[in-house]
Amino acid sequence: AADGVEGETFVIGTDTTFAPFEFRENGELVGIDMDLLNAIAEEEGFNVEIQSLGFDAALQSLQSNQVDGVIAGMSITDERRQVFDFSDPYFESGIQMAVAENNNDVAGYEDLRGKRVAVKTGTEGQTFAESIKDDYGFEVVAFAQSAQMYDDVKAGGSVAVFDDYPVLAYGVASGNGLKTVTEKEAGSSYGFAVNKGANPELLTAFNDGLADLKESGEYDEILDTYLEAGA
Ligand code: GLN
Repeated sequence: AADGVEGETFVIGTDTTFAPFEFRENGELVGIDMDLLNAIAEEEGFNVEIQSLGFDAALQSLQSNQVDGVIAGMSITDERRQVFDFSDPYFESGIQMAVAENNNDVAGYEDLRGKRVAVKTGTEGQTFAESIKDDYGFEVVAFAQSAQMYDDVKAGGSVAVFDDYPVLAYGVASGNGLKTVTEKEAGSSYGFAVNKGANPELLTAFNDGLADLKESGEYDEILDTYLEAGA
């Protein structure tokens, strides 16, 4: 166990639904992030209290010190590094576009002209969509929760969604009614975050625990549990 965290309880914010990283199964929060964090906490001798807040809300709670850390499939970006400290990366991601399964009109960014696309507030998917919207002439609408964003695409309010490719792949494989139509864009890796300069012991403990899980094979087991079933 690492110094300074043994026996401590940390409040950790997460997204509400971001399968396979966090989602509910029979009412219980499960997923890659949850399993990794719980295994690391056990390994390092600390306790966690999970708050299922939503992505943007979790980041805001961290900034205002209402939670000690965030794990939410959160991309390590230069902009976020200004305000947060990140753990070592634990999953490589990237952005992809998806449309409703029965939509045969939108196969690339060129087909988005004059249309509306859905993103989740405060995400890399939103940043990417905003960065190309003027070139391709589409409108971006942001939702707080993944479910609202996906529903808007299925209901036809938006013709496409930009989201992280492992999440889209998992959703499509579990029959969520969408299909991916573009190659993935290079994106950032996921990291566990604490406020800048705050909780350095927690960050160290997370990194130590993560390294141990990788060495023991438990990291691969956790990923396989969720990725074999879905993506
Ligand atoms: N990886 C994306 C980001 O950090 C999305 C995370 C999420 O929606 N939970 O912006």
